Amino acid sequence: MKEDYYELLGVSRQATQDELKKAYRKMAVKYHPDKNPGNQEAEEKFKKVSEAYEVLKDEQKRAAYDRYGHAAFSGGSGGGSSAGGPFHDPFDIFSEVFGGAGAGGSIFEEFFGGSGGRGASGRGGAQRGSDLRYDLEISLEEAAKGIEKEISFRKPVQCSRCGGNGAEPGTGVVTCPTCGGHGQVTASKGFFSVRQTCSTCHGSGKKVEKACTTCGGEGRVNETTKIKVKVPPGVDTGSKLRSANNGEAGAGGGPSGDLYIVIHVSDHDIFERQEENLFCQIPIKFTLATLGGTIEVPTLIGKASLKIPSGTQSGTTFRLKGKGLPSLRGGYFGDQMIRVKIEVPTSLNSEQRQKLEEFALACGDADEPVGKTFFDKAKRFFD
Ligand SMILES: [Zn+2]
Ligand SMILES: [Zn+2]
Repeated sequence: MKEDYYELLGVSRQATQDELKKAYRKMAVKYHPDKNPGNQEAEEKFKKVSEAYEVLKDEQKRAAYDRYGHAAFSGGSGGGSSAGGPFHDPFDIFSEVFGGAGAGGSIFEEFFGGSGGRGASGRGGAQRGSDLRYDLEISLEEAAKGIEKEISFRKPVQCSRCGGNGAEPGTGVVTCPTCGGHGQVTASKGFFSVRQTCSTCHGSGKKVEKACTTCGGEGRVNETTKIKVKVPPGVDTGSKLRSANNGEAGAGGGPSGDLYIVIHVSDHDIFERQEENLFCQIPIKFTLATLGGTIEVPTLIGKASLKIPSGTQSGTTFRLKGKGLPSLRGGYFGDQMIRVKIEVPTSLNSEQRQKLEEFALACGDADEPVGKTFFDKAKRFFD
């Protein structure tokens, strides 16, 4: 007993074309085989809702169906119809509704997060290989200077024995006997025929006489690949480098995909980075801050000297111009900011203590600038 088309789509018999389309979209997304791999039930449902929509979106077919039900379409030959039947591949309807030519459109990707699609992969022979992603961790110093790194990873590469066509050397490639070279076969279901990708040739329409003994006819083998990556100076976490044609080899001798290297810059124990600028905090003695002097500070490319003026307050930030990271687009360097933190001694010997007490006495009650500003403001609380 065939299910009612309206019930399948969950709409009323008075549904507008817009409502039908919406209902179909919802169902198609839910039951699409790419979302339910290996789920026979979902695939059946997907075909059924596609079939229902195929009829109801056509006003003439819909009118016939409304009058005669499924009988409207079951006259004729009574099944076994061959290629070119009235109904399309459900994936064709799917891509029609989703607006992507060959189901490779952006909406398709949005829903299924993949590239290519059934519609796209089923038809052609050679296919472009997938893009690959490699996450590369580098140090802040390496990000500043740029570096060349060798990375290795496993990926499908073109089989060298057969050159990617999957045929044992000396043997040829023949037309697929299952589909006669069409890449698609038509399965009949009553009056409806459904076009499917040929399972013998996976859509290529060709078959090798004798499968290559190295790759088993796949045309690709998994191999560890080593490539040199040139990381330019100035990269940051999230920077992407594209290495053309270093992705997976294509199937059936198709072109390779690309490799994307995603950079991760590891945390540094001294420097914090904000775009091209570097920040660090350096402790200085309270005597140095009071008397002034010069200190050595670390930079990404070695050491630099920094003048501390007498009377420097804790928290003062100094700027070393051009000691940050280079801009990735080139042209300039960021700065290095150094924030000084005045360290108070935690253990004094008796001589030091005595000298400091003498110093305190010599200072008397006079306020220094920061204290003066504060106590002037706070005066009203003490009166
Ligand atoms: Zn075939
Ligand atoms: Zn091979």
